[in-house]
Amino acid sequence: MNKKFRVFATCDIGEATELLRKRGYEVEVYPGPEAPPKSLIVEKAKTGIDGLITTLRDPIDAEVFEAGKGTLHVVAQIAVGFDNINRADANRYKVPFTHTAEVLTEATAEFAFFMMGTLARRMWPAEHLTRELKWGSWHPYLPFLGDEVTGKTVAVIGTGRIGLAFIKKCVGFDMNVLCYDPAYENHAFVKTIQEINDLRHARGLTKEKIWIKYVPFEEALAEADYVSVHVPLLREGESKTPTYHLFNERTLQKMKKTAFLINTSRGPVVDEAALARALRENWIAGTALDVYEREPLPEDSPLLDAAIADRCRLMPHFASAARITRLSTDPDKGMAGRCVQGLIDVLERNYGGDVTKMPYVVNKEAFSA
Ligand code: NAD
Repeated sequence: MNKKFRVFATCDIGEATELLRKRGYEVEVYPGPEAPPKSLIVEKAKTGIDGLITTLRDPIDAEVFEAGKGTLHVVAQIAVGFDNINRADANRYKVPFTHTAEVLTEATAEFAFFMMGTLARRMWPAEHLTRELKWGSWHPYLPFLGDEVTGKTVAVIGTGRIGLAFIKKCVGFDMNVLCYDPAYENHAFVKTIQEINDLRHARGLTKEKIWIKYVPFEEALAEADYVSVHVPLLREGESKTPTYHLFNERTLQKMKKTAFLINTSRGPVVDEAALARALRENWIAGTALDVYEREPLPEDSPLLDAAIADRCRLMPHFASAARITRLSTDPDKGMAGRCVQGLIDVLERNYGGDVTKMPYVVNKEAFSA
């Protein structure tokens, strides 16, 4: 490698940074745990950096690409979602950007599953009782009961990588699955899960016959005991089926009063004011959220209303936050490893310099002939 590449990282991605330094890269890491101001990213781009490592907190658009015009060759995002990066602008400036799909799939799916169980079995209020010494003697139904997950029906909204991994977890809990995805229906996967369900039933592992099927959105909402959301954030104009405020007053009212909503996708997929109302007025039984319209959750969020605290679990955008998933330097295991590999592929012109062949580049369309 002749050229010494210069990279600015908007956050510390652990040992993976050292991988770059060992290759002779000059890497500057923004020291704060919080996101740097956008003006600083623009300033760094103007200094002629070759690569930028970003997180979902950093707005990357024409202003940044213009500042790095002619020198900024790649934006490497440490996340699978990339709604903070303006794809049209990246394409206009012909800057490839990469993401870290797949390595966080299982961690995110299992977290969504655990959130569902925590919510349904009321573990948070139950632990509060214990800690606050308000736990009376054993009683058949006092002070409250939870709802089982086993044997219930779950709607999976978005059957991409994480949605499918979530379904795999549901199989072990004998759950019926309603799938909804307007862009791509994976019937081969559904067939395989059905075969496994049938085998488990035939061998006596499940008493009831368990099923899985694709259905229209409204049917999924109307029939499910649990609704788990696994879509990208797509705003109006970015898709024929945008996901911004997919869950709003109208769609929340389609759910059963006894149903629960789990969202580990992106905050703006759910209209939070509508959701808080749905919880206050008992349109649905509860929610567990990992992501918010504004992060970190602001003090005046309607979701922090004490009146709904027993049925509203709030996590700090934590679903992929597992040790190996976040920080392994192995690009097949960790987001950090995959993030730097994406950056290296572009800067060192791997795959014969053909961006369209680089596995972690998202906006390949800007580079195809
Ligand atoms: P993916 O692209 O593999 O799957 C997304 C699926 O959603 C696709 O199959 C797509 O067709 C479908 N979809 C698109 N529009 C839809 C709509 N209107 N209704 C229903 N389905 C729709 O992505 P993935 O790897 O499964 O990740 C999904 C999202 O999860 C990411 O974009 C990211 O925003 C979020 N995520 C969050 C965390 C976290 O820490 N909370 C971690 C990882 C990913």
